[in-house]
Amino acid sequence: MNLFCNSRTVALVQVLITQHPLVSHKLTTLRAQHTDSATFRALTDELVTLLAYEATRNIEVDAVQVQTPVAIADGVKLSGSAPMVVPILRAGLGMLNGMMHLLPTAEVGFLGMMRDEETLTSSIYADRIPNDLTDRHVFLLDPMLATGGTLISAIDIMLRRGAAKVTAICLLASPEGISALEAALAERQDDIVLVTAAVDERLNEKGYIVPGLGDAGDRLFGVV
Ligand code: URA
Repeated sequence: MNLFCNSRTVALVQVLITQHPLVSHKLTTLRAQHTDSATFRALTDELVTLLAYEATRNIEVDAVQVQTPVAIADGVKLSGSAPMVVPILRAGLGMLNGMMHLLPTAEVGFLGMMRDEETLTSSIYADRIPNDLTDRHVFLLDPMLATGGTLISAIDIMLRRGAAKVTAICLLASPEGISALEAALAERQDDIVLVTAAVDERLNEKGYIVPGLGDAGDRLFGVV
C-alpha cells in the first residue's frame, strides 16, 4: 500500500482505491442528489483526471535526454504505441475529457454497451475499436462497476484483440462487481488493473450501487 492508494491484488486483478481528500470531497458532492448536471459533469472531469494520475502510474516510458538552455537533462517519454482510451457509452463518455487532459496523445475508441434493466446483462450496440490491439495499453472508462457484466465483457474484447494491459477506471465500484471481475479473470495471465474512487456497500435489487450516486448516465446527460 502506498500513501495515496489502498491496493489489493486478488487473483490477477489489482484494485487501486485512490485515497486523497480532494477525491473524497469531489465524490461526496457528486453523490449528492441535488447536484445539477453541469456541476456533475465538471466534477466527473476533475475526478477522472485525479484517478487517471493513479491509473497511469506504471505506464511504460523510455529514457531520453533533452538539451535545456543550461545543460543536458535525463528524462523520459512515453514508449511504444499510443495508449488507447475507450469510454463505454453512454456514461463513459462523461469521463473522456478528464482522461484526455492527462493523456493527450492517446487514441480513442468507442464501445457502446447497454444494460438490460430486467436481466442486468449487457449487450454491444457499437464497436469502434481497432481489431488489432497487440501490445497496446487500453484504458476503459465506465463510471459505475455494478454487477461487473459490462466491464468483464469489455475487458474480454480488449484481451481477445491482443491488448497487453487493461486498466479500468470507475468512479465507484461495488464489492459484488469486484468479486465478479476477479472470478471471471482468475485464469487470465494478463495485466488488469481497476482504479476507483471508492468501493461502496452493496448492490440493491435493481443492480444500483448503494449508497452510490444514482444513474450516472442520466445525471451526466439527462434521463432518456
Ligand atoms: N449504473 C449506474 O449508473 N448506477 C448504478 O448504481 C449502477 C449501474
